[in-house]
Amino acid sequence: MEFVEQLKSAVNILNVIGEWVRLRKAGAYRYTGLCPFHSEKTPSFSVNVDKQFYYCFGCHAKGDVVNFVMEMEHVSFYEALKSLAERHGIPMPKRSQYADEDSKVRDAIFQMHDLAQENFRANLNGPAGEVARDYLAKRGVAPETVEQFGLGYSERSGRAVLRLFEQRNFPAAQIEQSGLVRKREDGSFYDYFRNRLMFPIHNESGRVIGFGGRALAADDNPKYLNSPETPIYKKSHVLYNLHRAKEMVRKDDRAILVEGYMDAIGVTAAGFRGVVASCGTALTAQQVMALKRHSQRIVVNFDPDAPGANAAERSINMLLDESMQVRIMELDGGLDPDEYCKQRGAAAYGERLKGAKGYFYWLADRARAKYDTRTSEGVVSVLKFLLPAVQRISDRLERMTVANDLAGYIGVDRALVLDNFRKAVADRREKTIEQPKEPIRADEKGLLNVLLSQTEGRDLLLAEMEKIEILERIPTRRIYQAVTAVHASGAPVTFDAVRARLEEADQNLLAEVIFAAEGDGHEITLDYGRQCLERLRQSEGELRRMQLKTRVKEAERAGNQVEALRLLEELQQMERSGELRR
Ligand SMILES: [Zn+2]
Repeated sequence: MEFVEQLKSAVNILNVIGEWVRLRKAGAYRYTGLCPFHSEKTPSFSVNVDKQFYYCFGCHAKGDVVNFVMEMEHVSFYEALKSLAERHGIPMPKRSQYADEDSKVRDAIFQMHDLAQENFRANLNGPAGEVARDYLAKRGVAPETVEQFGLGYSERSGRAVLRLFEQRNFPAAQIEQSGLVRKREDGSFYDYFRNRLMFPIHNESGRVIGFGGRALAADDNPKYLNSPETPIYKKSHVLYNLHRAKEMVRKDDRAILVEGYMDAIGVTAAGFRGVVASCGTALTAQQVMALKRHSQRIVVNFDPDAPGANAAERSINMLLDESMQVRIMELDGGLDPDEYCKQRGAAAYGERLKGAKGYFYWLADRARAKYDTRTSEGVVSVLKFLLPAVQRISDRLERMTVANDLAGYIGVDRALVLDNFRKAVADRREKTIEQPKEPIRADEKGLLNVLLSQTEGRDLLLAEMEKIEILERIPTRRIYQAVTAVHASGAPVTFDAVRARLEEADQNLLAEVIFAAEGDGHEITLDYGRQCLERLRQSEGELRRMQLKTRVKEAERAGNQVEALRLLEELQQMERSGELRR
């Protein structure tokens, strides 16, 4: 068996996709969840475990387990194979025909990150790491937490990591692309991170793809230095700690979003493991989508200072755009999440978490602090302030409820609030892009499903099919042609083999047929296949009869009695033979 086939049969697509997407059983073979490739509120992403295949009815993303890993990790075919093989303990063939130049560079950069990570961790425990150890002790980070988060220390010399890369003979071009060194004007390199406490940043499958480094000397700027963008690190796609937090996020059906590395670490250490950090960058749509795959509910817990509040305000809009359910958690005493957990304890933090307000109340509080609601100008300003968030609620009923609650909360006339929001929302209508499609008949779907399953005796159906003309006119005709072609080639008629012969649009159609048939509740048996085939045959007769009748009428209308008579005879003959067959 070819390696790709072997790999695909060894891994369960459900487990692999399940690491990224929360899936629910929706049928014997079908699981559904929120699509990781486009923004949506109701699940249109489906996985078929029988065919080991996924398909999104919304954005038409589709493929097998290898395609999925390629898309999610933004990697090449070769890297996806490698990643799957490693995770499932399947040895890769030695000389691989799949590796291309890009994959090789990325592979080298991953290796360099592993080397750097080892080096940073060793430094932290060595004599040079004292300054970092002191800092961690001062911040009250326990040794097991240091271990858990893989914290490290980049030493002062500026040559340690570079030397490691050179010893391993990485080409200069790859070293330069790693983002772990900088280039001087004379072309020589030096380490990017020097004398910093190091926080490794992982992708969702847990590989180190970058670092954040905190300055340890008071005059070192910036306080936090992050890896630049590299072929393996795209800032806007990554949330710190998501690979560790995601399991708990699903379990709790809630994520906690904090700002910094230390916050994520402190909150985790206090026992709240479903926490991720945005790490200085403004929250992006990609980051929110990554979260949403695990839960749609989020508690934003930013710093209590003004920049923190402003960042929270911006994040809310981004989160609402992605239809997240947002609550805001506020901490008293001017403490950030990490400090709060340490000084007030986990129980107090838990209480605050429980008491987190719906984002609207939090926004209203902010508005009330800014404007005087006793004047009519003040009220108008408050409503203006709240409007962007209200407009983002696409559900009408929810919008009404929120407006109602808000009116009471800020002490303004209900009608005034509703009126204001209604006007503003009127122009924000969701567009539907569904195009009318030729309907697919149940028997057409049914027969295909029987043909693509491992039912015994399918060959009989394939032979019968040749005599049925209607198969050349139905919407799925090209799929039927592919089935016939695969069969004729002598290869086994499998889902993958048929799919490989289809154009994009027909691949989508195939996926829809496969998923739709399951909902029909028919058992996929040879008998059922025969029934479908028979119905197709009958409808073919009906179609021909209809056509003949029309032609008879046309001939009569044209005054061509001879032709009309001839057609009528043909029609009668057809009806007789149809009766005989029945
Ligand atoms: Zn989609």
